[in-house]
Amino acid sequence: MAATTTRELAQDALTSLADGVTLVDDGSRVVLLNPQAQTLFGVRAEDWIGKEVAEFYRAVAKNSTVGEILAERFEQQAARAQETPRLEFTLRAPREQVIEAKWFALPASGAFGVLWRDVTRDKEAEQIKNQLLSTVSHELRTPLASIKGFATTLLRQDVRWDEATQREFLRIIEEESNRLEELIDNLLDMSQMEAGALRIRREPTQVRRLVREAVEVAQRRTEAHWFVMDLAAELPRVWADPRRVRQVLNNLLENAIKYAPEGGQITVTCEVEGENVVVSIADRGQGIPPEYLERVFDRFFQVDGASTRKTGGSGLGLAIAKGIIEAHGGKMWAESAPGAGSVFRFTLPVVKESDLLQNEPPAEAG
Ligand code: ADP
Repeated sequence: MAATTTRELAQDALTSLADGVTLVDDGSRVVLLNPQAQTLFGVRAEDWIGKEVAEFYRAVAKNSTVGEILAERFEQQAARAQETPRLEFTLRAPREQVIEAKWFALPASGAFGVLWRDVTRDKEAEQIKNQLLSTVSHELRTPLASIKGFATTLLRQDVRWDEATQREFLRIIEEESNRLEELIDNLLDMSQMEAGALRIRREPTQVRRLVREAVEVAQRRTEAHWFVMDLAAELPRVWADPRRVRQVLNNLLENAIKYAPEGGQITVTCEVEGENVVVSIADRGQGIPPEYLERVFDRFFQVDGASTRKTGGSGLGLAIAKGIIEAHGGKMWAESAPGAGSVFRFTLPVVKESDLLQNEPPAEAG
């Protein structure tokens, strides 16, 4: 192998670095933009080499959410490169990403450089952690306050509650305890899912039976809604973990009730499409604006945080439901026309003869 010069090694290092690098000579001209920097900003090195770095900053800043201010900051930071300052900003194009810029001086030559790092994921993780804390504390506190309040009231020495009142208070305590339990279960499911450790035990299952049972449970919870089941006459068995699919159905039916507060029809449909059974749950509620149809499946996302918080809910239900279905090798999505309610659909893979011969579900399971 030919001897590699230090210069070649340095060049190789700059090219292979995960972060973007810009090098600027002592005359403030751009001398290098490594491939990562070019990708980050959607530029070509040959268009910028030899140009004033201030001009490059302005071009980058123009695509950021803070524009002019950012260009000025870049200048100031560059002037202070000896102190290795850092700056964080959000880039809009070529894609939305949070960038951390760090300046470093090259004292021997009077030049300086900038390291550009995509910290979008770190920021998201941080945001999720903060949201988790605020959701959990809020969602735990509300039922807890209620449990404590009713228990204290029941225990008061100076008042005698008649039996009906006592039962009513105890009913509320039970209901609120269930809410606490559900939240904790959701959090556990979520953390297992994130660790890739959600256990799904798939077996050949009649989805029709699961749907019927779930609808019965849901019907008991509401008087304002009525349920219509439209189940294909011939439904093949699907690969499903009955407990988990029940959890998904309960969640979707509960949402259909919760987000159609005026009541109305809720239609549950099962049909075969290719190698899948598609289950749909359609309500006649407030619907979901098109821009949120995918985001409703994000953890903690709520279309209207303030109003859904009132009805209770952590914004975890759909994220978990989708995770469960995907672990089954299925898909889940939402459809909605403004004012015409929402439809949530999910698929489960049909059990095929060949699966049964091998005596195991198809490989996609998580
Ligand atoms: P939660 O109900 O606890 O807020 P989910 O993950 O179940 O959390 O739902 C996330 C958000 O999606 C809800 O806050 C609501 O804004 C929206 N959503 C879910 N189901 C429906 C529905 N059937 N109709 C309208 N909006 C819905």
